[in-house]
Amino acid sequence: MKPAAFEYHAPGSVEEALELLTEHGWDAKPLAGGQSLIPAMNFRLARPAVLVDLNGIEELTFIRGADEGTDEAPGSSGSNDGVRIGAMTRQRAVERSPLIARRAPLLSETMPHVAHPQIRNRGTIGGSAVHADPASEIPAVLLAMNAKCRIRGPEGERTVAAEEFFLGLFGTVLAPDELLLEIELPGRRPRRGCAFREIARRHGDYAMAGIAASLTLDKKGAVDEARLAYLSVGGAPSLAAGAAEALVGAQPTEEVIREAARVAAAEDVEPMEDMHASARYRARLVEVLTRQALTTAAQRASGASNP
Ligand code: FAD
Repeated sequence: MKPAAFEYHAPGSVEEALELLTEHGWDAKPLAGGQSLIPAMNFRLARPAVLVDLNGIEELTFIRGADEGTDEAPGSSGSNDGVRIGAMTRQRAVERSPLIARRAPLLSETMPHVAHPQIRNRGTIGGSAVHADPASEIPAVLLAMNAKCRIRGPEGERTVAAEEFFLGLFGTVLAPDELLLEIELPGRRPRRGCAFREIARRHGDYAMAGIAASLTLDKKGAVDEARLAYLSVGGAPSLAAGAAEALVGAQPTEEVIREAARVAAAEDVEPMEDMHASARYRARLVEVLTRQALTTAAQRASGASNP
């Protein structure tokens, strides 16, 4: 199918893009990698009258240390501060970045699970975040890592935590005249371990269920903070509250992890049935994947394994 007719603009700067979005309001849509928007337009699920193509805006493509103004350089400072990723950075560049591997290894570990290399060559980190598909890996990682989203609109800039950024099925806090500029991920911390697990019918397909988990231990080895975000088992990218409650304050023993996984499957997710899996099977996957991810995250947090 072909999309409905639309006006096309290719601004060269964020300012110019914002002017176009302000002028056209709800009729306009930013175009990033086009890997979700263009299929939706071809199926006439989306019919923007105006496309604002962000691909010519160089200032939106970068990977930088949060402590540096410059783009990543091999062997750049040994600092453990976080990393800032421009919204138009291709998913493949994120996957291959040594800086992200060093400072935000959960994201590096997850990227090969996002679609296929051809799609990651075009798809952007910002496009995936704004698309807010509850079956997507990147929103789950942003939630588990407590990422911050920097947004600019006609009124100026604001920074929003991932938990507030995602509002529901394909929904975010972005107004039609706002752009996501960058995502900031915190750096590695002592006694924090993360892990990603998913099950897909074929590698690269959308997962039947998945989890991004981050555990921080206190000095005595008990769980200080637990951030668990699921994909493909709910109506929106969100954090699991029940499982986190079962973990915080406890030593991450096999029994505690088993109980947290049971709670996650019973209370935290609302899996749907479709042609790929029943709701019951998905809940079972959540329990098993949660156990696996938490076990790995706890080992990493205690320094028993890398990264
Ligand atoms: P686009 O499609 O260009 O845009 C998506 C939405 O975000 C649009 O509404 C657009 O207006 C808005 N937008 C984009 N950038 C900005 C910005 N900076 N500010 C404001 N709004 C913005 N994804 C997965 O997570 N897992 C998968 O397994 C997976 N499998 C796929 C398989 C296939 C065959 C295909 C075609 C896609 C798949 N995807 C998958 C989706 C892919 O990862 C997309 O790249 C991603 O969801 C959207 O990124 P994009 O850059 O292509 O955004």
